[in-house]
Amino acid sequence: MLDYHLHLWPHGQRDRAPTLDHVADYCERAGAAGITEIALTEHLFRFAQADALLRGFWEDEPDAALRASMAGYWDDHARADMDAYVACVLEAKAAGLPVVLGLEVDYYRGRMDEVASLLAGYPFDVLLGSVHWIGAWRFDDVDDDLSMAQWSTRDVDAAWDDYTEAIEELAASGTCDVLAHPDLVKAAGFRRAAPEECWDRLVEAAVGSGMAAEVSSAGWRKPGAEAYPAPGLLARFVDHGVPLTTASDAHRLPDVAYRAPDIADILSGAGVQTLRAYRGRRPFDVPAAAEAARR
Ligand SMILES: [Zn+2]
Ligand SMILES: [Zn+2]
Repeated sequence: MLDYHLHLWPHGQRDRAPTLDHVADYCERAGAAGITEIALTEHLFRFAQADALLRGFWEDEPDAALRASMAGYWDDHARADMDAYVACVLEAKAAGLPVVLGLEVDYYRGRMDEVASLLAGYPFDVLLGSVHWIGAWRFDDVDDDLSMAQWSTRDVDAAWDDYTEAIEELAASGTCDVLAHPDLVKAAGFRRAAPEECWDRLVEAAVGSGMAAEVSSAGWRKPGAEAYPAPGLLARFVDHGVPLTTASDAHRLPDVAYRAPDIADILSGAGVQTLRAYRGRRPFDVPAAAEAARR
């Protein structure tokens, strides 16, 4: 098993420099749950380097309240130093800890070439591709009243369509390696009655781009109360030979390897034998080793 989606900082926590001890604690907790390798994948938008490149991406959003909300969210997050983050994870790797250097990258419409240029200057092992917002609407920010109120004024099917389209564009950009939480649009608990068309498009996006898809326990911590991806979407990924990673998406130590045995059950139930790992953004397969998670 892998835990290939981990954050060092909770949302809202600022300006804390990562340390080797911090990384070692994550590795220890993951190892105790039978995880053989972790990827640290902090959000790109936590870093001042993203601020310099992408600040103001929300200005196209027609809703002034959403624009203001995103500006505040951005100010709250885009502060850490990517060089220090990268140096810390490289130090942990050099010390022999079972960790690889990753990043969780959001989709910025029309800006992914610039994002790729920034990231090419760093020795990342794996890049997760995510869609957390539609325009400036943070549709999965379940603690934010303004964001959640949008779910009662928008058409749910249209939101799923917009999300799916953003994933398609993100995948086509070729910027990232793994589709993180592939059906995140369900996080707040608003389901499309017939999701199959969106599922098929998500699978096509993965197949067409060569990206892997992430199986994540984080959905169990959200109102949607289901792992990502939904069983029907996972079955489609497996049927089409899309490689898989596994993840907790922890933002704090107690959630590292969150419900790893349940993820192992999902994998074995779907007949998954291998997981995809990465070094220097080159993919290779490792055994799913589902039994390890129960030790
Ligand atoms: Zn995410
Ligand atoms: Zn994440």
